[in-house]
Amino acid sequence: MVFPIAHIHYDDEIDESGKVVVPDEVLEAIKTLIRWTGDDPRREGLIDTPRRVGRAWREYCAGYGEDPSVHLSRTFEEVGGYHELVLLKDIPFQSHCEHHMAPIIGKASIAYMPTDRVVGISKLARVLHGFARRLQVQERLTAEVANCIWDHLKPEGVAVVIEAQHGCMTGRGVKVHGVNMITSKLIGCFLDDQSSRKEVMSLMGY
Ligand SMILES: [Zn+2]
Repeated sequence: MVFPIAHIHYDDEIDESGKVVVPDEVLEAIKTLIRWTGDDPRREGLIDTPRRVGRAWREYCAGYGEDPSVHLSRTFEEVGGYHELVLLKDIPFQSHCEHHMAPIIGKASIAYMPTDRVVGISKLARVLHGFARRLQVQERLTAEVANCIWDHLKPEGVAVVIEAQHGCMTGRGVKVHGVNMITSKLIGCFLDDQSSRKEVMSLMGY
């Protein structure tokens, strides 16, 4: 089946305007949450909110409907004698924390040291987004992206550094703004070889 909306990967029912049908139980749950927060879901401005919120969450979590490793299945062996690291720097992404379902907004730098094959550069960003569009903790997101590249591309090394702000920290609790959390996962030569590690971290700007 071909879905009219590219970023929806589910077997969702689609209405005549091409939008995902939100099940009644989901609409009810969102209405309950609106009531709990102190507002009236029957108020004019909120009438269509449960449907919008339902669709938005289906999109935020579209990663559950895909296997991010598929993006690494098509590789190129002709690398023209290039055996240095490949880096995609400062890729913006959005995810949601699994503890509060609050936004995690940040950027990721992803590098690998190819052996005999490379992937199209946009594929690294697709892997990132496949894992980011789920409920996450930043540490696991970082490790999942790195392990996926390590397992499927079989390079000499992988380095992933993620820098992000957490809505559950800026918008609630301690309400601290402008604080970035940095996580990294280094595998293979980037872990074992100090000069490779230094090179990748300095190219990433760390
Ligand atoms: Zn949180």
